[in-house]
Amino acid sequence: MTEVLVAGPRGFCAGVERAIEIVEMALNLYGPPVYVRKEIVHNRHVVEELRAKGAIFVEAVDEVPEGSLVIFSAHGVAPVVHEETRARRLRVIDATCPLVTKVHLEVHRFMKAGYSIILVGHKDHDEVIGTMGEAPGKIQLVTSVEDAEAVQVPNPDKVMVLTQTTLSVDDTREIVATLRRRFPRLATPPKDDICYATQNRQAAVKELARQADLILVIGSANSSNANRLVEVAQVAGTRAHLIDDVRDISPAWLNGVRAVGVTAAASTPEVLVQQVVEYLREHGARDVREVATVKEDVRFGLPSFADAASPAS
Ligand code: SF4
Repeated sequence: MTEVLVAGPRGFCAGVERAIEIVEMALNLYGPPVYVRKEIVHNRHVVEELRAKGAIFVEAVDEVPEGSLVIFSAHGVAPVVHEETRARRLRVIDATCPLVTKVHLEVHRFMKAGYSIILVGHKDHDEVIGTMGEAPGKIQLVTSVEDAEAVQVPNPDKVMVLTQTTLSVDDTREIVATLRRRFPRLATPPKDDICYATQNRQAAVKELARQADLILVIGSANSSNANRLVEVAQVAGTRAHLIDDVRDISPAWLNGVRAVGVTAAASTPEVLVQQVVEYLREHGARDVREVATVKEDVRFGLPSFADAASPAS
């Protein structure tokens, strides 16, 4: 192996940085335990680190003792979850990414205007469960071109398509094209639902795939955007593996490889990237070069912590 190519941008997006900061601030301000509903972001290392600092991760709010502080994950929650927290008199801080909240708001705006809503996304993903929960039983989930061919709506002239924020840009384009062929007046959101971080990381991994013989995507198995990065690299014709960290690398993967590309999902800490780069140096890489596509400077403000002082009402 002669070189390591590191994707830019890679790793933490603004929504993940904000969510982690919220948990850390809550721990500092109120002290442990701080309860977090679901994994704050889909990364094992992030969750373990916060757990060590005193965060307690639960699947549902009924596991949180009455009156305690609970933080909602970056993936968003359905209104029914807010109702449950009120019933249990929980104090709440919502770490939902603002770009997920945007999709939730679009559901209401277009339902009010009489549209049938089709959501393109992955069944059972936390974000999809939250978005579908904005209008239970009224949003149809489409996961493939086949689904898009089959979906039925009462009025083909009033159909709106929304998407999960972390989908494959190319796959989604195909699904939306199918819907548009079937419903020529298909409405789409004013700004893409697939978020800037997902789009940028996929564009960067495509560039890596042009230059590398093997791509290592650092991210957890339940991270949607990590899995999409692997797929995008593979569709571009380059062998790619998803690894949680350096320990998952099999030395045999490096046999006969000239350039290894390295990228990281939107929820993957940079320290894991540096450990992988170090490993590759120790295994013969002479050069390490960043392959930069776009520069990101997105930041989101923190939510008000005032709500955490008293139970939700
Ligand atoms: Fe927000 Fe996109 Fe990051 Fe998800 S991947 S948290 S939608 S910025």
